Parts: sequence; C-alpha cells; structure tokens
Amino acid sequence: MEDTYCNNGYTLATRVVHGAVSFDPLTGAVSTPIYQSSTFRHPGLYESTGFDYSRGINPTRTELERTLALLEKGKYCLAFASGMGAISGAIKIFAPGDHLVVSEDLYGGTYRLFNEYYSHYGFSFSWVDTSDFAAVEAALRPETKALFIETPSNPMMKVTDIRRCGELIRKRGGILIADNTFLSPYFQNPLETGADMVIHSGTKYLAGHNDTLSGFIVHSLPELEGPLRNIQKSEGASLAPFDAWLTLRGIKTLAVRMEKHGQNALKIARWLREQPEVEKVFYPGFEDHPQYALSQSQARGFGGMISFYLKDAAFVPVVLKNVSLILFAESLGGVESLITYPLVQTHEAIPQEMRLAAGVNDRLMRLSVGIEDPDDIIEDLRRAFNVCRHGPCKKEIGS
Ligand SMILES: *Cc1c(COP(=O)(O)O)cnc(C)c1O
Repeated sequence: MEDTYCNNGYTLATRVVHGAVSFDPLTGAVSTPIYQSSTFRHPGLYESTGFDYSRGINPTRTELERTLALLEKGKYCLAFASGMGAISGAIKIFAPGDHLVVSEDLYGGTYRLFNEYYSHYGFSFSWVDTSDFAAVEAALRPETKALFIETPSNPMMKVTDIRRCGELIRKRGGILIADNTFLSPYFQNPLETGADMVIHSGTKYLAGHNDTLSGFIVHSLPELEGPLRNIQKSEGASLAPFDAWLTLRGIKTLAVRMEKHGQNALKIARWLREQPEVEKVFYPGFEDHPQYALSQSQARGFGGMISFYLKDAAFVPVVLKNVSLILFAESLGGVESLITYPLVQTHEAIPQEMRLAAGVNDRLMRLSVGIEDPDDIIEDLRRAFNVCRHGPCKKEIGS
C-alpha cells in the first residue's frame, strides 16, 4: 500500500499518532473509519475483499491490531473485548496437564480467571514472587509451559527480570507471557527484552480516557498465530468496531499522556513519602526501589501508578471519603486520577493469606495518577490527610 505504512524509522511518539496506516487509502480519511458492519459482501465465489464476518475480522479492528503490533514490536496482534478476554484467549493455547508459574502479585481478575476457572479444566498454577528469580526457578516443573508475569506488578510495583525469565523458560520449551498494561508500549516493550507474548488491558493507558474496554495479545510466533486467530474467532470475545476506534483514538495521544503520567507520578510519590500519615510508598522510579537498576535496563520510564501504606487502617475510609478531585474508583491508566483500595476492590478475589504475603494489607492504597496539574492532585491528598490528622478520626501517629 504505497507509502501509507508508518513503520519505517519513526519513533514511538510518531507512530502512536499515525498508527499502522496513516490515512484511509480509499477516501483519504485521516481518522480511521468505524466499519460498523457485522458482515461483508463477497464479490463472487472464491473472490474476497479479505473481510467476511466481523467476529473474525473487521477493518477498524485490523487497523488497531496492526498499530499495536508496531508499537509493541511484534509481528502479530489480536484485539479482544477486554483485557480478560485477551488473557482467557491466550491461555487456551495450553492443554490440560500444563502448568504455569504466575506472579503472585497480579491483577485480581487474572487470579480469579486462572484459579476459579482454568484450574477446573486441568491447568495448574504456582503463584510466586517473580521478582525473586530463585523462586521462579524453584517453581518450575517438567510440565511447566509458561511463565506469566506482570512487571511492574499490581499493586506492589515489584519488577521482574524479563530477560532472565524468558531465557529460563525457553530453555525448557515454554514461553514467557508479560502483562504490559502498567507501562504501556511507550515505556516498555517486553518482546524486545525477552518475552514471547505481551498482554494488554487496552482499557487502561492505551485507550486512556476511562471510556472503553479492550484487550490485546501481541506476539511474533508464527506457529501460534493460526491457533490464536482461531480462538479469537471461535470464542466471540473479539473487539467491537466502535471500541476499536476509541482505542485507536486514545493511542494517538499515548506518548504525551505517558510522559505526563510519569512526571506527575514521580512528583506525587516524592510528596507522599514526606507525609506523616504515609508509612511507605511503592514506586519503581525511586532510586532506592529494590529493582531500580533492573527497571532502567528494561523500561524507558516508571509509569503513573503508585501504591502506598497509610500508617493506620482507620485513615483509609477518611482518605477515600475526603478526596474530591481524585475519584474513588477501580481501574487505572486514564486521564483522570483514580484511587482504589486493592484489599476489597481489585484484589478481592485473592485469598487473604496470599494477599497479605504479597503485601496487600488493610492499609494499602493504589493511586492511578492522571494528567491533571500535579499540584492540584497533591492539594486534594493534603486536604484528605488533614482530616485524618485533625478530623474526627484523630490518631496519635507513631504511637
Ligand atoms: C485491568 C487489568 C486487566 C484486565 O483488563 P480488562 O480490560 O479490565 O478486562 C489485566 N491486567 C492488568 C494488569 C490490568 O490492570
């Protein structure tokens, strides 16, 4: 297609704006058309436009898949109706009897999917702290077919060594799957540093506006492309045209948003550290984060997610009640700052002892830093902390 493919030499910041095809070759439309059609007319028997039925293939979705493949430096990309749809699709390439080693500190929905559903179909899972390489090695079994990691992890912001984990599992014929939702392809490309498959919840930074759900598998394994396409088409969790378009539109501003998310998060994380109501802040951009050097070696930024322990569990409801700019809501990665309480929200599906072992206790808050003025976000937190300090819940800090 003449010169419309935007895949030669451009940096990521340019690619996000132009996508795979910079304009619609048919009409010149600068915004990818929404092909809101369930089916496509065939020109004749054995003649095809390349499109037949939208569960299997749709032009708007195809443009999004090509764009994300370029951004993640993969050969293939498949778009699903949500991040969970993508993870559920990816795991179907395995067979009953297969074993997967999974980050113990991960999105609660992924834990629920694996533990409550796939474990009943003959899959087995070991939950380990994958930032501890020796623990990963110790968890491997002869039937281990994959490592499934989140890095940085959700919500404790632990960083896993993508290169070493990839080498370890490939030596045994398995694959490394990395959920790259937290950093987005703008800050991290796991396929380049040693993963075989990347997962995204496009609902988060990729779409970026808290207005749609989407999910992706990106990979470069020709032998898996056929089976994965077949899963996508057969299961029916493929991404709808309008949601594909919203995600494409979101991606156009990914670079500027991620820069701002990262700058805001660092400023707020540093401020949080100084507050008497806060016991500890988890942010991979701190130089004293245990895997700071590893982060720098495999990512180009630290992202917009922060978690922190309040000094007292009694502060939790006070903070959630008294923030006003920051919205108390699940999810992350959008332009609006959101705060959540992982223990009872995102990580509620994970058993208590496992949550506590991972560090998800009753004082842990998770902040998805938006792109507002960081001083306004800080002011909002300051007011909420002031109620903890002076309001009805007054406590002796440090006693
Ligand atoms: C949100 C999220 C998911 C699930 O994605 P949905 O789009 O909500 O289905 C998976 N992994 C991570 C890290 C997430 O944050």
